Amino acid sequence: MKAIIVGGGIGGLVTALMLHERGLGCEVYEQAEAIRELGVGINTLPHAIRELKGLGLLERLDAVAIRTYELFYLNRLGQEIWREPRGLDAGYDVPQFSIHRGRLQGVIYEAVKERLGAHAVRTGCRLGAFTQDEGGVTAYFFDRGGAHVATAHGDVLIGADGIHSFVRSRLFPDEGPPCWNGLMLWRGAADWPAFLTGRSMIVAGGLSAKLVVYPIAEGTKPGHKLTNWAVVAKIGEGGAPPRKEDWSRPGLREELMPHVARFAIPHVDVKALIAATPEFWEYPMCDRDPLPRWSHGRVTLLGDAAHPMYPVGSNGASQAILDARCLADWLVKAESPMAALAAYEAERLPLTAEIVRSNRKGGPEGVIDAVEALAPDGFEDIEAVLPYAEREAIVRGYAQKAGFAPEQVKAA
Ligand SMILES: Cc1cc2nc3c(=O)[nH]c(=O)nc-3n(C[C@H](O)[C@H](O)[C@H](O)COP(=O)(O)OP(=O)(O)OC[C@H]3O[C@@H](n4cnc5c(N)ncnc54)[C@H](O)[C@@H]3O)c2cc1C
Repeated sequence: MKAIIVGGGIGGLVTALMLHERGLGCEVYEQAEAIRELGVGINTLPHAIRELKGLGLLERLDAVAIRTYELFYLNRLGQEIWREPRGLDAGYDVPQFSIHRGRLQGVIYEAVKERLGAHAVRTGCRLGAFTQDEGGVTAYFFDRGGAHVATAHGDVLIGADGIHSFVRSRLFPDEGPPCWNGLMLWRGAADWPAFLTGRSMIVAGGLSAKLVVYPIAEGTKPGHKLTNWAVVAKIGEGGAPPRKEDWSRPGLREELMPHVARFAIPHVDVKALIAATPEFWEYPMCDRDPLPRWSHGRVTLLGDAAHPMYPVGSNGASQAILDARCLADWLVKAESPMAALAAYEAERLPLTAEIVRSNRKGGPEGVIDAVEALAPDGFEDIEAVLPYAEREAIVRGYAQKAGFAPEQVKAA
């Protein structure tokens, strides 16, 4: 059994480790010239960390990440709407990690090279065509200049090639570009004095604009952390974004700063933090409608290629990791590769489609949206604005849907 994995992001690389762990062969093809540590902060939830722990990566992650201790939902003035412990401190048997996306990818990539060999990941190889028949699947890879550089044969082809997936575009040629909801996300990170516990995460604001701040690594001096921030604000009505979605596009300070002005969070001087951030990036909040199917014979989709979702609720990387585990398990136990891909889809597609839909409504952050709508200028008593039971239903209801409520993680 050999799998061709298209895409060396978190989804593709974890899939390679999962397959190797089960004695299955694979090759990873990545279009970039090198696996570089790109991106900024990402949160990885306990159900996904449990999978990475199963792959023996917990210690390595601990060395580069922050074990998230608590999460605050605040209004734009810093008043508390909801607070909850996270990870081990919430009773899970594994931590939640706040981590630099590139370092997470780097830890996984190093493990792939050690276990599968340096040649298991072929960079500079962009998928440009694939065919399948009863005997297997064949994929053709090209360099940036369009020259053919490799042909791969395998039993299955896994499209882990992100939101602009080539594989998906061939399976669903009429789908068109991702959907934009009119919101822009700016994100960056800077070395900054630790706030609150040094392991706290804040999500503040509401429908008009949101602010997210959390540490993702130790800083360069004692008492400092590499502190990730993100601001989300409405800048359009949806349709086509002003600039194509690209995780590596630099943001414009003059476009961002007017949205920052509305926040007055006592715990962190956000304006100063952003001013101290040398470069930051923009990303229009895009997703795609859930698909009716992912698997077509010997070809399937995984991670953002299968279910791109708005980056709320810390689910992008986590769900890709869960996909990888599920697909690898089915490839071992199913009667044929095709049956494995169909079973994987049957298990994962409905769950992830539900998260895509839920994230469109704000996911767990719906709790601050609701409070901002009811009390845009602040409140004296949160109970009088939105009682505990209603706040709990929004936040904990999302955890249930996304499969990371403590009892679900323990039971699994
Ligand atoms: C550069 C980058 C920066 C990011 N930064 C953040 C961030 O700061 N915060 C956050 O929450 N999320 C970020 N994300 C998204 C996040 O990593 C994903 O949502 C999540 O990890 C799921 O990953 P994935 O492996 O499914 O997709 P991705 O991480 O998008 O990986 C897909 C991979 O496939 C490769 N690829 C695409 N097309 C082809 C092709 N035709 N042939 C071969 N290879 C191909 C891409 O180069 C990429 O490496 C970023 C993604 C990227 C690519």
